[in-house]
This record gives sequence, structure tokens and C-alpha cells, in this order.
Amino acid sequence: MATETPGRETQETLSNLLTETRRFAPPAELAAAANVTAEAYEEAERDRLAFWERAAERLTWAERWHTTLEWNAPFAKWFVGGKLNVAYNCVDRHVEAGLGDRVAYYWEGEPEGHSRTITYAELQREVAKAANALQELGVRKGDRVAIYMPMIPELPIAMLACARIGAIHSVVFGGFSVSALKNRIEDANAKLVITADGGYRRGKPNPLKPTVDEAVAECPGVERVVVVRRTGQEVNWTDKDIWWHDIVDRQPAEHEAVPHDAEDPLFILYTSGTTGKPKGILHTTGGYLTQTSWTHWAVFDLKPETDIYWCTADIGWVTGHSYIVYGPLANAATSVIYEGTPDTPHRGRFWEIVQKYKVTILYTAPTAIRTFMKWGADIPAKFDLSSLRILGSVGEPINPEAYVWYREHIGGNRCPVVDTWWQTETGAIMITPLPGITHAKPGAAMRALPGIVADVVDDKGESVPNGGGGYLVIREPWPSMLRTIWGDDKRYVDTYWSRFEGLYFPGDGAKRDEDGDIWLLGRVDDVMLVSGHNISTTEVESALVSHPKVAEAAVVGASDPVTGQAIVAFVILRGEAEESEDIAAELRAHVASTLGPIAKPRQILVVPELPKTRSGKIMRRLLRDVAENRELGDVTTLTDSSVMKLIAEKLPAAK
Ligand code: ATP
Ligand code: MG
Repeated sequence: MATETPGRETQETLSNLLTETRRFAPPAELAAAANVTAEAYEEAERDRLAFWERAAERLTWAERWHTTLEWNAPFAKWFVGGKLNVAYNCVDRHVEAGLGDRVAYYWEGEPEGHSRTITYAELQREVAKAANALQELGVRKGDRVAIYMPMIPELPIAMLACARIGAIHSVVFGGFSVSALKNRIEDANAKLVITADGGYRRGKPNPLKPTVDEAVAECPGVERVVVVRRTGQEVNWTDKDIWWHDIVDRQPAEHEAVPHDAEDPLFILYTSGTTGKPKGILHTTGGYLTQTSWTHWAVFDLKPETDIYWCTADIGWVTGHSYIVYGPLANAATSVIYEGTPDTPHRGRFWEIVQKYKVTILYTAPTAIRTFMKWGADIPAKFDLSSLRILGSVGEPINPEAYVWYREHIGGNRCPVVDTWWQTETGAIMITPLPGITHAKPGAAMRALPGIVADVVDDKGESVPNGGGGYLVIREPWPSMLRTIWGDDKRYVDTYWSRFEGLYFPGDGAKRDEDGDIWLLGRVDDVMLVSGHNISTTEVESALVSHPKVAEAAVVGASDPVTGQAIVAFVILRGEAEESEDIAAELRAHVASTLGPIAKPRQILVVPELPKTRSGKIMRRLLRDVAENRELGDVTTLTDSSVMKLIAEKLPAAK
């Protein structure tokens, strides 16, 4: 019987298919010395605002706030009346506390041998000089500065220099095209652009300046372009351009950090564009730094005296903003920054870096973990990874199989894995295990952090009982929440606060298991409706990835005359697995036995690659276009558009 696809409003909530029984308790030693104990949850429950006040007290304020939270729903102000300087908190105060010789960043360039060590004292001088340079160029508090750079030390230095003088930075990922850069410069109306001649990527210099030249030619509001010399490649020069070393190097190494209002804007950052047109997310000063620094300390159990922390994200994404720059520096951590790709010059590069710097905390993304699985466990096995003690994951739901692989082959079965759920919009981690407390389940983000009130609700916004599935929501404002979409309050209200009255809706599906723990099930836009059941792409993908021959999978619902939507799966096989005639049948049977017959894909296609955003997330909407034989939608945030051709060619061969 044909089933009509009902409107999203009338659908039942998510079917809950996956059962996972593996559990990992925190290592006893780690638990005994953990920064945060289970009491934090109770404290925050007793008095949420007092909990966040204590977190804010970890920072140095020039003036204390008078009101912790002013909530004119959905517009929040945190630590109202408080004044602080973010750059002072991230750099100067550590030097004043006698930590000037501590390494802030071990920078590792992609070409081997390009490395640099930057102490907090050096960082203080570099940031002061850069702040003086920005002021000489006429940048004032509230002005927007676009930053389009490779992963080099001048990138965090430029961000901190902006923060220091109260200019609002808008970092644009260095892989973006002319039009993406131009749109972001225009939307924020930036008056200055900071860039570099190029950066190293996949073994060769990758030019950036030509992209900036083309974009700036169409942005008359840009007055100057500051250019860092990184690769030494030939560049075109215009009268707006000035070399970083010409303007920054001659500046005094002192700069007075004036305090800014807790609610002064800190930065604009555009979302990754996985679902459509990116949104300019606005973050402010006091609440953002409070939550990024507290979560970085709590979730990674950071011991700043001894830990070597490495987040592999690009600073052009929010993960890099919050967990390479602001969180770690506010905590006086020692971090690694790596410029290049994981396979240059060889597929063991990440593990070589872990070994070289004796990294203790590693924070990476499921897309990277699945790639390492595909390459094989023998590669990390060649390196000494015994320094590691905590592993993190962010960006997409982590498939249980990828989690277990990560734990075993990278973490030696001794490191807890924290699966951290958050977004550009939330500014900082929201839902995650805590490494010294949580008995973690592979694939589950588990529980909202102390001070965060998350829930899973049905269509009407009512909490679902344990065992139920539905929509993830946040019930109360949090310090690092976005304040608005830049220049568009209406879009802010419509996008996040209109689906459920009084609740923040991030756009993700979730379930609450029998123990009350939270599992993220992918974006609600990706949820499939098969014979009247809402089925999550994440669960079907995880079932596919649990087959020993599959490294990565993407699943979409394509319209089907019988079932409403039918499941179409795209899979990448593991290194050693061969594509064979029977593989599709074998995988379909595997899904049916893991999740039940309802989740059995109609088609399975073996593909060489999947379409991903530049932040590494699978773009299912493009696969849906392919599966339904439509013209492809917006591909501007796609990493490599030739991938879609390769995939489309596979389609007629589908079983
Ligand atoms: P856009 O909003 O423009 O479509 P995006 O959502 O990919 O782009 P980000 O803010 O970088 O932009 O990503 C946040 C999203 O990533 C979350 O809403 C969620 O869908 C996904 N995500 C991040 N971490 C996790 C996690 N640990 N588990 C599940 N999903 C996650
Ligand atoms: Mg999003």
C-alpha cells in the first residue's frame, strides 16, 4: 500500500533502532584526580547561575558584573556590567603569574622541519605588536576584520590582536573560494583583511592571496589587506596591500589591554554550510570565554602544567576558535597546531606528531577517525602513542564502531573518549561525557554538562520518556550561546526559536535511551520516513560501519512509490576489502539483522569518496539529489565537486 509522506509536523518521532551494550568506565587513576567530580551536576542543579558565576570567576575581570543573566527571550546578556579583556585573559595574565616560559603553541608546519615553539611571553609580545599595527591601520573597536589564513601562528595572533582592541574578527576558512570569501566580507562589512601569500597543503604551497585579490576587488569597503609571508610564492601587489612583517615587526611590544564590556562582540563566524546558506553567528566576550575555558578544563580534564593538548580542527571552524585559541589559552594550556593534512607526507603524520610532542589529549573528528580506519590500524601501530590519556570527538555523530576503533587503536584501550556535541551557535561544548565520571557508551554524547539544560522532545515540545526519540532542544540560555545572526535578528528568531515555543532548537534529532542518556541521531533534515517510521541516517550508517568491510557510509531517503521514502546507502570499503558482486546483498542482510528489516536499504552503492563540506561533514542533501536523479543543489561548501561525478556514475550499476 502506498504511504503518503506527511508534513514534518504530523510525523511521529524518531524510531529508535540501535542497541549498544558496550560500556567503558573511567580509569580509576584518572577519576581519582579528575578536575570535575559528579558533585558539579548537583551544584549546578541546585543553583545554575551560581554555577556559571563560579566558572566566570576562573577569569580575570577588570570589573565584576552586577547581573549574571538578563534574559529577554530569546535574547540573552550574561555577566551584565562586567568588564574584561579576552587577550589579557588568554595571554598577559599567565605571563604576570610567572608562566611566561611555558609553551603556548608548538607549531608544526606541513613540510617536515618547519616548526616553531611559542611561549606565553613571546605570544604576549606578538599580540601586542599586532594590536598596535591594527590601530596604526585605523582599526577601531567594533570594526570588522576578515581573516583568511593558513594554520600558522599569525592566525591566532591576529585573532587575539582583534580581541585585544575590541575589533570583531570574522575568520574565513582558508580553503574557501572567491565567492564564499567575498560574501562573508560583504555580509560583515569588513574594513580590513588579514591573509598570507599561501600555506602548505598536500605537499605544496597553496596560494591564498589571489583569492583575496579577486574578492577584495569586489568589496570597496575593504581599506587595507595585511599579508603574512609564509610560502614566499610570487604575489600580485595592490595599493591596499601591506606586508605583515613591514607593519607588525616595527611596533612596540607593549600594548595596553583596555577592558571591554562582557557583551561586546568578540567575533562573527559563519556555520559550515552543511545544510544550506551559512549563517553569520555572533559571539560576545564574557560568557563565551567563561564557557569555552570551563569546558576545555572540565571535558578534557586539563592539567595545564603537564598536558600537551592537540585539537586537529582548522581554526577557521568554531572548534578551532573555541578549542585551539580561546579555551586552551584562557587555561594556560600548551597546545599543538598543525598546518597540513593527515596524509602528507605520509599517512602516519598525525601519529608522528603525537609521538614527537608526547601529546596527552587529542581532539579530532569522526570523519578523520573513519579515514584512519580505512587506511588500517597498522599505521598508528608503528608509532608510540603511549603519552595519550584522553581522546575527544566532534563534528558529527560518531559511529559506535569508529569510537571503539579510536579507543583501541589510538587510545590503547586506556583513554576515555569524550564525544562532544555542540555547534557554531552554542560556542562551546554542551553535551558530553566527563572523562573522570561518565561510564561512556560508544556513540552516545551521554549527558548535558552541569549548567546546561538539554532535553529530547516530541513534535509538540513535550519531553519524551526514556527510550523515546525526537528533537534535541536546549531549555535554558547558556553563557556562550550565540547572541544573534549578524545583522539579522529575525532569522535568528526564526531559525532557532520558532520550532518550539521558548526552546532553542539546534536542528538535530536525538534519542534518550533507557538510562536517560542522550544519543545524537543526525540533522532532522536528514531523517528518513520509511513506511510511516522516522528512521535516523546515523543509526543506519552506524550499522553499516559495524560491518568489518565498511569504513564509511552515508545514507539518504529517496522518494519511493511504495514506502514513501526508501533507504539508499553509499559506502566506502575498508582498505583490505574488495568490491564484489555480493557485497550489496551482504550489507543489506547485515543492516536487517542489526536494526530490523525496516531499516534495510533499497540500494547500496560502493563509492570511492563521499561528498563532504570543507569541515569534513557528509553532505547528505547532495546524495539525495543523486538518488532522486535531480540537479545538484548548492555545492559551494563542498570540498571536491568531482566526487559527485564519480558517485553519479555508480548509480546505474546499483542493486
Ligand atoms: P550549517 O548549520 O551551515 O548547515 P553545520 O551545522 O555543519 O553547518 P557546525 O556548527 O560546524 O555547522 O556544526 C554543528 C553540527 O554538527 C551540529 O548541529 C550537529 O549536527 C553536528 N555535530 C557536532 N558535533 C556532534 C556530535 N558530537 N554528535 C553529533 N552531531 C554533532
Ligand atoms: Mg548547523
